Amino acid sequence: MIAQQIKSAIRDIPDFPKPGIVFKDITPILKDPQLCEAIVNAFAEQLKGTRIDAIAGIESRGFLFGLSLATKLGVPFVPVRKAGKLPFTIKQKAYKLEYGTATIELHTDAFEPGQHILIHDDLLATGGTALAASELIQEMGGIVAGFSFVVGLGFLKGLERISPVCDRVVVLAD
Ligand code: IMP
Repeated sequence: MIAQQIKSAIRDIPDFPKPGIVFKDITPILKDPQLCEAIVNAFAEQLKGTRIDAIAGIESRGFLFGLSLATKLGVPFVPVRKAGKLPFTIKQKAYKLEYGTATIELHTDAFEPGQHILIHDDLLATGGTALAASELIQEMGGIVAGFSFVVGLGFLKGLERISPVCDRVVVLAD
């Protein structure tokens, strides 16, 4: 089972990046090429029948499987980046964090209005980042095709926040 393989590979790091947080470290997955291939295949399988014109991967770990999946599906990959990183003209969206705010950006030519965009990240926690990405994509005229994550932290209720935008949500391990 892919979920079990992912869970066994992930490493819990207590008190990172600050005291009280248990960080899910996915880097051991990246050292296992067979597991990486199985992850990409599982996403492709579970997204069969969903129209996807491009994949928007969220910085930075959303780039890892986001690009591999886009390559497998034969669609463009577009990076959703933190403020100030993208060199071309951008559209941005500020969103609330537990403490303070963050801003994400997309290139204005990332996709055409009316295209169906899959939002991808490594991990779904509160859903705030994926929700902000979905709002930015919609403000730019895109249609959210769905969301995909390698891991979901169910107790943080991210699914409840993002599924009203689009209920096509693939979480391989939770
Ligand atoms: P959310 O916006 O609360 O859903 O947080 C998800 C974002 O934070 C994603 O971009 C994740 O990469 C990152 N993140 C939050 N917690 C973790 C973790 O424990 N491990 C890896 N990434 C995390």
